Amino acid sequence: MGRSHSEAGRSESRAGRECPICEGPAADVLHTQRFVLPEDHPLGDGYDVVCCCGCGFVYADTSATQEDYDAFYARHSKYEDNVTSTGGGGTSWDAERMVQMGQDLARLIPDKAARIVDVGCANGGMLASLKGLGYGQLCGIDPSPACANYVRMHHGIEAYAGSLTQLPAEAGPADAVLLSHVLEHVRDLQPALAAVRAIMKPGAVLYVEVPDASRYHEFLFAPFQDFNTEHINHFSTQSLANLLAASGFRLTASGRRIVASSPTMPYPAIYVVGVFQDDPQAPPRGS
Ligand SMILES: [Zn+2]
Repeated sequence: MGRSHSEAGRSESRAGRECPICEGPAADVLHTQRFVLPEDHPLGDGYDVVCCCGCGFVYADTSATQEDYDAFYARHSKYEDNVTSTGGGGTSWDAERMVQMGQDLARLIPDKAARIVDVGCANGGMLASLKGLGYGQLCGIDPSPACANYVRMHHGIEAYAGSLTQLPAEAGPADAVLLSHVLEHVRDLQPALAAVRAIMKPGAVLYVEVPDASRYHEFLFAPFQDFNTEHINHFSTQSLANLLAASGFRLTASGRRIVASSPTMPYPAIYVVGVFQDDPQAPPRGS
């Protein structure tokens, strides 16, 4: 990485990982993060946290590839464990969060016959909540085959093992796609959203929820929780909106949530809702 000093006197670098939102190559280093990991850990023992000089997005300049992350989530998923993980609805606080989420999504997607695909469904807590509200065309996708199997066996909901780089075609065509606490883990964001578009009907709804980097400082444990091997994107509402716009979605709503990652750990999150516009101005599908 070639480092030079900009006119403002800050240390400016060419990032190894270009900005996943505006594709700009230059970024300021905010922090150098190191991890102590088992020897065979595939994701590397550190990275610079950088801020894109073009659009202001904050992300990890990780040297790991998307393939490294895909392999990691398929083999080392912590979301298979209902006691320690979130998103499965396996604990009372997580179940409560899933019920609330289901009700919020029902307002967004009122048609009970809508085909709703939850990408990164973990053990299917959100899907189960939607099933309980009367939705009949649900589908879950998770990199972990064990999670997909659990969703099928335990909730009786269609599910597949797959990732954003390998979305099973059977999942589509979708009226709505949910990406809840997924995009902070994804290295190649624009190809991921292109893959999502490819399984969406024109006019379909995309719901994205991620940790709110603009409020890490209000939740004292959160900055430490969020700078880890897995969280490599630090979104604000603006950067999330920029990503959706760059990926051919029209933003229709956004907002903040507080979610519980445990009974005593509230966690700041943001969400945006986009509608897939199948028009010639949008970036080509599958790009
Ligand atoms: Zn950028």
